[in-house]
Amino acid sequence: MNQTALAPKTVNINKKALLISGPCSAETEEQVLQSATELAATGRVDMLRAGIWKPRTKPGMFEGIGTKGLPWLRKAKEQTGLPVAVEVATAKHVEDCLAFEVDVLWVGARTTGNPFSVQEIANALRGVDIPVLVKNPIHPELELWVGAVERLAKAGLKDLGLIHRGFASYGNTDFRNAPMWHLPIEMKRRMPDLPIICDPSHICGRRDTLAAVAQQSIDLDFDGLMLESHPDPDNAWSDAKQQVTAAALKDMLEHLVWRHEPD
Ligand code: PEP
Ligand code: MN
Repeated sequence: MNQTALAPKTVNINKKALLISGPCSAETEEQVLQSATELAATGRVDMLRAGIWKPRTKPGMFEGIGTKGLPWLRKAKEQTGLPVAVEVATAKHVEDCLAFEVDVLWVGARTTGNPFSVQEIANALRGVDIPVLVKNPIHPELELWVGAVERLAKAGLKDLGLIHRGFASYGNTDFRNAPMWHLPIEMKRRMPDLPIICDPSHICGRRDTLAAVAQQSIDLDFDGLMLESHPDPDNAWSDAKQQVTAAALKDMLEHLVWRHEPD
């Protein structure tokens, strides 16, 4: 590991078999640094993710460490060379991420479904050159996904990508969020120039089915994966059941059969 490496100036979200991993939430400085060190050591992860502000469906749960976690991410980047990605939902989130040199932003599923919020983010990013990944909206409404991308593109953002994280459905299913593969496939058809990666963690909601969903997305010619990982998954402050250790992630990645070798 290169302790002095600086993040690359341009982060390529278009590389083949893009791999983004890290904890659902940044919790402590130690947890963020340990995550980054372990993921960098796998030699396969392109980018560190960590939620700083967590949009929880119901009140009373951990809602993110907030802005004080951003220096931890910057330190993790300085120590490992891994660029960092953070979810933004407001103009203030955008400002804070830019101030702390976050490399890639993503719009979460609950935000993509809200045109006012997406527009606020787009306005805050006008004139800024940064990659933005847009998760599908939480409910299966493709036009909201398309509309969110269009709002960002109209604000001048050129480096956009998609994340498929499944769709909420009522009743018991095997998935936390049903993949409804026809929808991201239709999205690929509608926006063929945008990379689309799969987030098996939020589709599965559990560890034991992650590999199968990841493989399915590769077989459907998705461009990469976002997978949540944590140094101590069972004790994670959010999404504990679906996170894996860096070692388990490495093992899973080694067993996936890629259509294209990573760049
Ligand atoms: C997350 O990535 O941790 C998250 C909150 O995801 P989603 O927006 O897909 O629910
Ligand atoms: Mn999560």
